Amino acid sequence: MKENKRVCGLIITVTIAIVQCFAQSRFEDYFMEKTMRFDYYHAGDAQSEYYFADEVIEEPYWAGNKNYLIDSRNVGNQQFRILDKTTGKVIYSRGYNTLFNEWQTTPEAQTTSKAMPEGFTFPYPKQDIIIEIYSRENKTGKLHKKFSQEIDVDHYSIRKSRPNLPSIDILYTGNPAQKVDIVLIPEGYTEAEKELFLKACRTFTNDLFSYEPYTQNRNKFNIRAVWKASKESGVSIPGEHLWRNTALNAHYYTFGIERYQMLEDYQSLLDIAANTPYEIIYILTNSQKYGGGGIYNFYGISAANIPGASTRKTYSHEFGHLFVGLADEYIGGTNMSDLYFSDVEPWEANITTLTNLEEKTWATMLDKSPKQTYVEKDIEKFNPQKPHSPEYNPQEPWKVGIYEGGGYVERGVYRPWPNCMMNWFHKIDVYCPVCTQAIQATIDLYTR
Ligand SMILES: [Zn+2]
Repeated sequence: MKENKRVCGLIITVTIAIVQCFAQSRFEDYFMEKTMRFDYYHAGDAQSEYYFADEVIEEPYWAGNKNYLIDSRNVGNQQFRILDKTTGKVIYSRGYNTLFNEWQTTPEAQTTSKAMPEGFTFPYPKQDIIIEIYSRENKTGKLHKKFSQEIDVDHYSIRKSRPNLPSIDILYTGNPAQKVDIVLIPEGYTEAEKELFLKACRTFTNDLFSYEPYTQNRNKFNIRAVWKASKESGVSIPGEHLWRNTALNAHYYTFGIERYQMLEDYQSLLDIAANTPYEIIYILTNSQKYGGGGIYNFYGISAANIPGASTRKTYSHEFGHLFVGLADEYIGGTNMSDLYFSDVEPWEANITTLTNLEEKTWATMLDKSPKQTYVEKDIEKFNPQKPHSPEYNPQEPWKVGIYEGGGYVERGVYRPWPNCMMNWFHKIDVYCPVCTQAIQATIDLYTR
């Protein structure tokens, strides 16, 4: 009995310690109304990775929600945690993804090693802190601590950034602490093309809010633009030997994929974003060529002048990656591999390997239990890319089910609806109910 009591007491003590460790902190106790940015280099190859500290920077604004300091949802392929140095208590944390994480799954990473500049921001701490970076192992789904550094928050070496680029309100609905704050950044617009960029910002805003659930949450967003001209107009297209001198060196053919338009110099991007209060960065590129990308809590980017409906649809698709961390629901279309393993449940809300679907909100949206849905073959194996695939008819909405194919692979990964904005979106113009719910939940986190 005595032994039992002791074990029981220990469990309670450990449980209390874990709860305390991740309990939300009071903003005023730990933080000031400005930003600390930690820059580092993320290096390695397919098998290994390293983090090298670069610079600590003080930036003038903080736009984040003061009641959402710790993210305990276990999301993102990476995570950073800020600990109070004296007590060891976690006072801030976020999950995120990076371009380097993706590069590690390409064939190139099998034979070469590489480094990319990265960084993240958090409210400026009042007392000394410890920064920790965690990385998720795809094969097990587990996070491992890869980096730790103490920061003296008053140290003279902390660079004070003095932004001097113009910031322009596109949509202002109120106090940044209670809003989702998006900053739009131009790429490939020359000094003479400022009006063209501002027009693209207004189009982006109208396009984003043409989709639910954004439409009904419009008053929960602020959108600002920061103006920075490029020397030359347009964007580099390496596959056509076309290079242009632009502010951020964005280019198509990232990882050899023509439509994958991305940039590697994340720290230069953060320098520009620091000119205004922001939480989410989206880059509008002065291009008519279809392409772009979105990385969770990192940045989104796409061409602003694609003919037809593709500009609007691409905004909505990439924003789903960037803001919510939604996965691609399509099959193929990439040279990344080993992203999802059949015995690991992906952390993304809109795909499953059926390993632990029960823990996702998706499971509560099925007519029956996941097992019954699966057994009763509510599964339709079709690829929305194929010509026979049905178009979505809003008069007869599809049931939320478990449809095989997603996360780039045909077998073993499942999606909630036959088609969705997070799939090949040419025959559809809505998010599936599971993505819609996940977007709403994220908006609520930022604005609670
Ligand atoms: Zn979806």
